Amino acid sequence: MEIEQKIILKHLACASCQIWFAIPDTFIDIKRANHKTFYCPVGHGNYFPEKTSEEQLRAALLLTESERDFARNQLKNKPNNNPNLSKHPKIKTWIIKNIWILAGFIIISLFFLHH
Ligand SMILES: [Zn+2]
Repeated sequence: MEIEQKIILKHLACASCQIWFAIPDTFIDIKRANHKTFYCPVGHGNYFPEKTSEEQLRAALLLTESERDFARNQLKNKPNNNPNLSKHPKIKTWIIKNIWILAGFIIISLFFLHH
């Protein structure tokens, strides 16, 4: 029985001594993803510090989610969400102070409208 396997090798230069060496592309993909150290033939440690596209997308997603949560908290902690009343605090205060007078006026008006 004979097994034939195709291996794709990619060449790299060591970051320390610049020696060229070839390693399987799958090995490079793994090292790019986990950022762990691998060694040149002389023994210098090398690694890929760049974020993968997946890591970049995850970071962008986290940033977007934290911005969304921040905006939600800002809205929650806003003292008054009613835009009409909050723009006119004097009107709001007047209504609160005179609520019973207004209620009496409405009740009396309704009484006279029905008679
Ligand atoms: Zn080296």
